[in-house]
Amino acid sequence: MDRKGILIVVSGFSGAGKGTLMKELLKKYDNYALSISATTRKPREGETDGKEYFFKTVEDFEKMIAQDELIEYAKYVNNYYGTPRVYVEEQLQAGMDVILEIEIQGALKVKKKFPETLLMFVTPPDAGTLKSRLVGRGTETMDVIESRMKRAAEEAEGMDAYDYLLINDDLDTCVREMHHIIQGEHNRVFRNEEFMSRIKDELKDNLKGE
Ligand code: 5GP
Repeated sequence: MDRKGILIVVSGFSGAGKGTLMKELLKKYDNYALSISATTRKPREGETDGKEYFFKTVEDFEKMIAQDELIEYAKYVNNYYGTPRVYVEEQLQAGMDVILEIEIQGALKVKKKFPETLLMFVTPPDAGTLKSRLVGRGTETMDVIESRMKRAAEEAEGMDAYDYLLINDDLDTCVREMHHIIQGEHNRVFRNEEFMSRIKDELKDNLKGE
């Protein structure tokens, strides 16, 4: 079976629990590589440069855009966010399934550029859970929480463009579901053209030998 890496985009409302989900997935399985984005957002407490994000000035970020170092970028609640190209390409080549945890505008740009990308959308079971997670996180002001809730309502309109929906109610269940979906994805016919053409040739050769 084909083991070329799959490019996976994971989106979801801010506060849907994507971060924790990704951390658990990477802890549990060894076939995933998580891309680290560049952003102009200020680090939150506990965030380190090069771990959660590469924290950039607007000037540096715009330089990365100009030099075509990003696969995609978008503005989200007044900050730039973008995916550095080199890491993603290297990891896919090495057979890793590469995850981009990005918002919807970026997701659609990636899908357009690379149509084989698998798009997954993570959502909490209801809006109330989303708000209480954002408040409970305690890292955002009420203003920012309000703009993120507003943004969530806008993003909900775009869920239809995704391939799979993941409802993050129970974390372990969600991690397992995500892994199964991605592993199943490796068996899709369009991802296995090399295998198919090899076995077709082998079968033809076998007939000639009879
Ligand atoms: P946060 O500020 O909460 O870390 O992220 C805000 C939003 O930006 C999230 O929806 C996150 O998925 C998205 N995001 C993070 N990195 C990127 C990126 O490289 N490109 C795009 N388009 N969105 C990103």
